[in-house]
Amino acid sequence: MARPDAVVVGSGPNGLSAAIALARAGRSVVVREQADVIGGGMRTEELTLPGYMHDVCSTVHPLGVSSPFFRTLPLEEHGLEWVHSPACLAHPFDDGSVAVLERSMEETGATLGVDAKAWRKLFRPWVDRWLVLAEDVLGPLDFPDHPFLLARFGLSGLQSAYGMAKRHFRGHQARALFAGNAAHSMVPLTESPTAAFGLTLAAAGHAVGWPIARGGSRNIAGALASYLRSLGGEIITGAPVDNIDELRGTPLILLDLTPRQVLRIAGHRLPSRYRAALERYKYGAGSFKMDWALKEPIPWRNPECRRAATVHLGGTMEEVAASEHAPLKGRVPEKPFVLVVQPTLFDRTRAPAGGHIAWAYCHVPFGSDVDMTRAIEDQIERFAPGFRDVVAARSVMRPADLERHNPNLVGGDISAGAMTLRQVFFRPALRRNPYATPVDGLYLCSASTPPGGAVHGMCGYYSARAALRRPITAPTDDGVAAGEGTPPTEEPHAGPGAAAPN
Ligand SMILES: Cc1cc2nc3c(=O)[nH]c(=O)nc-3n(C[C@H](O)[C@H](O)[C@H](O)COP(=O)(O)OP(=O)(O)OC[C@H]3O[C@@H](n4cnc5c(N)ncnc54)[C@H](O)[C@@H]3O)c2cc1C
Repeated sequence: MARPDAVVVGSGPNGLSAAIALARAGRSVVVREQADVIGGGMRTEELTLPGYMHDVCSTVHPLGVSSPFFRTLPLEEHGLEWVHSPACLAHPFDDGSVAVLERSMEETGATLGVDAKAWRKLFRPWVDRWLVLAEDVLGPLDFPDHPFLLARFGLSGLQSAYGMAKRHFRGHQARALFAGNAAHSMVPLTESPTAAFGLTLAAAGHAVGWPIARGGSRNIAGALASYLRSLGGEIITGAPVDNIDELRGTPLILLDLTPRQVLRIAGHRLPSRYRAALERYKYGAGSFKMDWALKEPIPWRNPECRRAATVHLGGTMEEVAASEHAPLKGRVPEKPFVLVVQPTLFDRTRAPAGGHIAWAYCHVPFGSDVDMTRAIEDQIERFAPGFRDVVAARSVMRPADLERHNPNLVGGDISAGAMTLRQVFFRPALRRNPYATPVDGLYLCSASTPPGGAVHGMCGYYSARAALRRPITAPTDDGVAAGEGTPPTEEPHAGPGAAAPN
């Protein structure tokens, strides 16, 4: 291909989404991926035994099926099949009971004792209009399409999950179920805006489910890549970009990278104020990830746990909250909150006949090298006695291993930066247009921009939208992109449209 209009660095869900949005608008696009396989957080590999296909990172996709951008793409025609377990999520307790996030709010309520009505009351307004709300929730802090709905959601979501659960629910089941959802934020549950995570994930569960991709998450990457190629886009693997100057003359460059890597490859091009803002960017807790090849399914004490692809292990809300607080204090939790996924109960393509796989992680301090194998397996044994007897092989990934697998997982932070109140809204820096950098033609499109982590492609879509407002002009000889030769300006900078006349 002659010089493309745009180069996207990184082929995660956001990189591929950015490339698709650009290609759909008629731009020629090349994606450069440092790894030998595409997909970033959507890769599936034989981590344990031959024929056992494990998702290395992402597995469960409530935000993938909610994504306003993914919903416009013909991904099924390009090989993606979503698989729904009968229930979204199970959360067992020591007394043998279990709270279950079902698709139906009524059936969920039936597992929540005294809080059946309170659960429906809290979620009904969001579930009924979830796909409309998702357009604003999964977007930057901008002019919302549905301001009143978003304002109501925002006011609730700004609370701490702990406070909201205490106010709305009286029983331990609903409180724990809500807390487990909120714990995906990787922020202590007593902090704002953890309630937003609890509301978002549970509402998405009721409205659209928590599906996995048949054959593994690599098939989401495969479908995105196949569609991109059908639009004329090109993807080159094994092609790291180590210095932005390599892309000299490319009109648009979109980086599916987190600030630390942006500083490494493009820091010398950035004006000092923006560079300092990226240096201040905060990464969050790390993750300790395990995968197992199993001789048979996990022997849950309560068989309801077999109806859900995802199982949250951590008992009561108080216990979950204590576990999520520990990494902030630089401690590993003694009894970690463990997120388990058991895909082969619902997708038999991922393991040889008779075999099963499972995946789990817990949150640990940023960069921790403490071995959590025993603590994680103890938590599973607590709710599934005999679990260790069915393990055929295990794979362990500490934060450093995760970062080796994908440089975006800095310190094992799977959210590309802490989802604190400030960084939920202003990531990676406080700017009118979070996707544009002060360097003309250079954009960020990773989960370090709004709306943040998870496989939904919305960061990539919004970044491409910002980039498309810039006209394609001839490259200069000495610049990264056309116009780069002029000194970059600091705030106020090009908000969407400011750099372009259209
Ligand atoms: C253990 C784990 C479990 C998760 N579970 C879920 C889940 O169940 N559901 C969910 O929705 N999300 C989950 N996530 C989060 C999800 O994977 C990420 O939020 C998502 O992948 C971020 O997408 P991205 O495009 O911003 O970046 P990434 O997916 O990280 O992609 C970035 C890409 O850039 C490439 N790259 C980096 N540096 C360079 C360079 N210099 N040159 C070229 N290429 C480069 C990387 O190799 C990578 O392919 C999980 C993540 C982890 C780690």
